Amino acid sequence: MSQKLCENAAILNIEGRSGDMNPVVIWDNENVVLIDTGLPLQFDLFKRELAELGLAPDQVTHILFTHHDIDHIGCAKEFLGESPKIETIAHEKEAPYINGQKVPLKLAALEADVENLSMEKRGFCEMLKQGFANRQIEITKVVQDGDILPVCGGIQVVLTSGHTIGHVSYYLIESKILVGGDAVNATNGVLYGPNPMHTYDIKNAIESLQKLLLLDIETIIAYHGGRIEGNIGERIKMLIETEKRIL
Ligand SMILES: [Zn+2]
Repeated sequence: MSQKLCENAAILNIEGRSGDMNPVVIWDNENVVLIDTGLPLQFDLFKRELAELGLAPDQVTHILFTHHDIDHIGCAKEFLGESPKIETIAHEKEAPYINGQKVPLKLAALEADVENLSMEKRGFCEMLKQGFANRQIEITKVVQDGDILPVCGGIQVVLTSGHTIGHVSYYLIESKILVGGDAVNATNGVLYGPNPMHTYDIKNAIESLQKLLLLDIETIIAYHGGRIEGNIGERIKMLIETEKRIL
C-alpha cells in the first residue's frame, strides 16, 4: 500500500526478495517526480502503487536516482517505454554507471575477485550481471551537490557519497522531507547508517551524514526501512557518534 507523506508526496511500497523498498513519488500540477525505480521486473508493482494515488506511469515527468545500484535503477527502462520524454537525473559521478559507460561498482568488485568467490557469491555476481544487462538508460541531466530542481516546490540535491561514489539524497524543501536513499537505513523505526557490507567507502558515508545536520529535516525516508519522523537532528547526531565508535 502506498503511504501518503503529505499533500503531494508518497512512499510506494515495493516488496523485494530481501525486504521492502521505499521509492518516493512527488507531484505538482505539471510534474510527477519518481525517486528510484526498484529492481528489474517490478514494474507491475509500481503501476499498482501509483494507481492507488490516482497516478499512472505515463504521467511521470522526472526520474531522480539516488545512485546506480540495481535495486534503484531496475524499472527505469519500463517507465521510459511508457513516456520517452522523462527527464532522468543523477549525480555526475553516478551517470556513467547508469548509462553503461562504466561497470557498476559492486559488479566490478565481484568480477575482479571472481576466482576466489564462494559458490554463493558467484551466483550473486551472475545475478547482478544479468540484472544490469540491458538496464542502461541515458541520463538527461546531471546534478551536483546543492543544485535545486525547480519542481514540486523545489528539490535540493544533497551529495551523500560513500555508499557509492556519487550517491545523493534529495531534500523536499516545502515538506522538509529528506529522501535518503541508501545513505541511511531504518529498521522498526530506528535510524541506522549505511550497511558497511554494501558500502563503497564507509568512512566517507559517515562523513556525509554530517551534512544532513545542516538541513531542517522533519521526516527522513530510508530506501530500505522507510519513514522516520521526529527529532531527526538528534537521531543523526547519535547515529554519527555510534558509527564513529565502530569505525
Ligand atoms: Zn539499495
